[in-house]
Amino acid sequence: MKFLQQKIGQIDGKSYKAYKSLQGTFYFPKFNLHIDYVQGDPFASPSKIRLVIPNKYQSIDQEWLETTRRQTYIEDHIARRVQKAIFKENTQVRGSGKSGMVAIDGPDQAILKRSAVQLNNREVTICLSVGLPANGRRINGKEAEKLFFKVIPSILKHSLFALKQDDLTNAMQLADQHDVIRKKMKEEDWVAFIANGSILPRKSGVSTKPLENAVPFQSPKENEVTISIPHRDEPLTGMAIKKGITLIVGGGFHGKSTLLEALEKGVYEHIAGDGREYVLTDPNAVKVRAEDGRSISKVNISPFINDLPNGSDTKTFTSENASGSTSQAANVMEALEAGATSLLIDEDTSATNFMIRDERMQQLVAKDKEPITPFVQKVKQLRDELDVSTILVMGGSGDYFDIADQVIMMDRYFPVNVTDSARKIADENPVKWPDASSSFGSWTDRVVVTDSIKIKLGKKAKVQAKNRHSVMIGRDVIDLSLVEQIVDDSQTRMIANMLKYMAMHAPFKENQTLVEWLNHFEKEIHRKGLSFTQKSKEQHPGDLAMPRRFEIAAAINRLRQIKIN
Ligand code: ADP
Ligand code: MG
Repeated sequence: MKFLQQKIGQIDGKSYKAYKSLQGTFYFPKFNLHIDYVQGDPFASPSKIRLVIPNKYQSIDQEWLETTRRQTYIEDHIARRVQKAIFKENTQVRGSGKSGMVAIDGPDQAILKRSAVQLNNREVTICLSVGLPANGRRINGKEAEKLFFKVIPSILKHSLFALKQDDLTNAMQLADQHDVIRKKMKEEDWVAFIANGSILPRKSGVSTKPLENAVPFQSPKENEVTISIPHRDEPLTGMAIKKGITLIVGGGFHGKSTLLEALEKGVYEHIAGDGREYVLTDPNAVKVRAEDGRSISKVNISPFINDLPNGSDTKTFTSENASGSTSQAANVMEALEAGATSLLIDEDTSATNFMIRDERMQQLVAKDKEPITPFVQKVKQLRDELDVSTILVMGGSGDYFDIADQVIMMDRYFPVNVTDSARKIADENPVKWPDASSSFGSWTDRVVVTDSIKIKLGKKAKVQAKNRHSVMIGRDVIDLSLVEQIVDDSQTRMIANMLKYMAMHAPFKENQTLVEWLNHFEKEIHRKGLSFTQKSKEQHPGDLAMPRRFEIAAAINRLRQIKIN
């Protein structure tokens, strides 16, 4: 600490570059400060530091580490506390550019494995970004001292050193409960569980916070299940959605899409108070939508699309500008390739001709002039041959009545089980289906030619997540704006890191498939943590969060002109 003080004294008033000499480790009374990266000037992206707190200053309870989920939830809780303390910190550090700023890559509503806070039984590590203070472009030593000797210790004092046992207990209990619910879902073959009383709608289209005064969720009697979960007097009651084909119907504005969105996000767990803390979905559920304009590289979409007018081979379908139906077909096939076990589909974001084709249209447009076999004729085979479930919102057509295992009607935000009525209607008004293959068909495991990614990186080998929805790779942009299950910018950063890793590392075996890459990534994260793609700790891993394999695959799949074998 004294040494840091001395050093700051020596560089005070010098040109900003002299801050580089602070890179290194300094020992404070209750923590070690690692200055990993020093920004080039006061306006550049901020410097990166790590605070490492040995367990003799903040004891680490064995309970926190008892399960991996507990550990993640405690790390998440600490990150939220630090974020709050930063927000409340009122020591003013002045100067030009980013002088005095302090930030942690804190979480939003979902609880994700992230790198901002890391726990083990010896120490807690907290990663921060800070703006080293300057006057113009000269080092302001006095303010730098304030930053390191007042602000940082004060943030720790009000966060890590002020943890409340109740909060920690709550975080661990929620972790245990989620473990139990997820286990139960597996045992019972439920693809989703929504507790009664859950709040599904969000405050607005741009907020992830719960809508105030919303109608709480209430399961239809037919779907109601009760689960006893730990740390709670009353068992949890709610709606279970079984494996199979679930159709959600109902009038416009009655809450269908809101329900489906909650299920999309239910692949992640949410914090208490979110309203969706007991809304959980099959972790391998993938939202599938139309995405015209996206690029597609050698995807086998032949289960849905054949005999295109331009003669394209739909077994290795490639397009720089896919249509609504071909993009949705590719999205289904890519999800299956990556291992999806449930598909989530909303009519609002689907290509109609991919979803259905009614009798009148069949009469007008002969079968041999229509390349598309609609999803309605494939969804059963998906279930029966591949054990892939579908939850589908469809308020505009009754064609799915015949094949749905259950039909849920949203009625003023209340779900009603109308399976019997729908069946009856289907029996009384049979639909004549066009001929179609009785089996689903298959996807093809693709091999990514990693050189085709490497070429894109350019000389500086630059890959960067610009924001949640786009990754720059050299001069190219990967557009992820319609990949709806990315919920955090830090997941996108992690995806960017993995793309670079993929480009820079030779495949570990010949003809390594996309799926083998995804498996490799998951294994490495498990073994080495989220920063496994980085060469050293000094690169500061503090702004990453765990994406699912489906979103990693989504980025690779949207890379234009990628070569696939
Ligand atoms: P649909 O897909 O059936 O047309 P949406 O799901 O888009 O309907 O919902 C319509 C509106 O109702 C949205 O503004 C949504 O926020 C709101 N909403 C949905 N569920 C609830 C609820 N449980 N309580 C209050 N408002 C809700
Ligand atoms: Mg809708």
